[in-house]
Amino acid sequence: MKKLDAVLENKHLIGIAGHVRPDGDCVGSTLAVYNYIRTYYPDADVRLYLEPIPNIFKFLRYSEEIKSEYTDEDIFDLFIALDCGDTGRLGNAAKYFESAKHTYCVDHHVSNQAFAEENYIFPEASSTCELVYELMDAQKVTKEIAECLYTGMVHDTGVFQYSCTSAKTMNIAGILMEKGIDFSKIVDETFYTKTYNQNRVMGQALLDSRLYLNDQCIVSVITQKQMKQFDVLPKHLDGIVNQLRVTKDVKLAVFIYENEDGSFKVSLRVNGNFDAASLAMHFGGGGHVKAAGCTMYGTQEQVVSTLLEEVEKRL
Ligand code: 5GP
Ligand code: MN
Repeated sequence: MKKLDAVLENKHLIGIAGHVRPDGDCVGSTLAVYNYIRTYYPDADVRLYLEPIPNIFKFLRYSEEIKSEYTDEDIFDLFIALDCGDTGRLGNAAKYFESAKHTYCVDHHVSNQAFAEENYIFPEASSTCELVYELMDAQKVTKEIAECLYTGMVHDTGVFQYSCTSAKTMNIAGILMEKGIDFSKIVDETFYTKTYNQNRVMGQALLDSRLYLNDQCIVSVITQKQMKQFDVLPKHLDGIVNQLRVTKDVKLAVFIYENEDGSFKVSLRVNGNFDAASLAMHFGGGGHVKAAGCTMYGTQEQVVSTLLEEVEKRL
């Protein structure tokens, strides 16, 4: 497998993108690679495309250079897809990936079919950031790059808690800490801190949650109307599904919110041995064994009952 420097050799126009609705690992891994290229390849024309990112990640270096419009019509010498299981998940950036002269993918989703020319895919890795660290020249990891990578690792491991966390994850995190990053601040301000409105909508989701299938499955739904009432956007609902998951004796936590077009975004989190990725894939989504998601269509009641029917078969 080619390391990042080998892949970047002789490439002038370079594009980078992550998945739609970017989360911490997506923002962290893409900005880490962007910072690496901006720092060590000053002659390259590098562009990072992501949907608008949550404000909590805007302290990361060069986040203000992220492009959220897809009007460029260039053919890239190299296009790098990060934290993304398939080209569909690249959203509006998929066209750049598809027309690029060379493509590279770094990812940790089990559903990833190695869709690029060069692939570095390890489903057992905690995060794409962990893999990106391995591909960089360790000597060239600056404090700013370390902040990006640490942020992504924190988010995909739930602050080094989930079972995807390995000794290697901790070792890399330790190396990143030695770069002088303010790790407490990153954890507190990007992972734990919620706005007043975010806390209130989470409170609503917890109040409205229901147990199903002999109390093995907890489900909660937030509608568009409620999001307007609490003045929040979908990106502010992160963390609700994790709170549902820590309900005692629950095997599967399901958090659903209504999209603007009336479809429903489903988030799945697992305690113990249940395969959320395969459940999500059944409905056209994907993800990891313990954390996955998909989009479903129908009324709220239909979505919940269709999902529960499938869960029942698999529990
Ligand atoms: P979340 O529930 O936080 O949105 O996503 C959990 C995991 O599942 C993430 O790794 C995310 O990339 C993946 N995921 C969520 N929704 C989808 C989807 O609709 N399609 C695919 N392929 N993956 C998804
Ligand atoms: Mn990830």
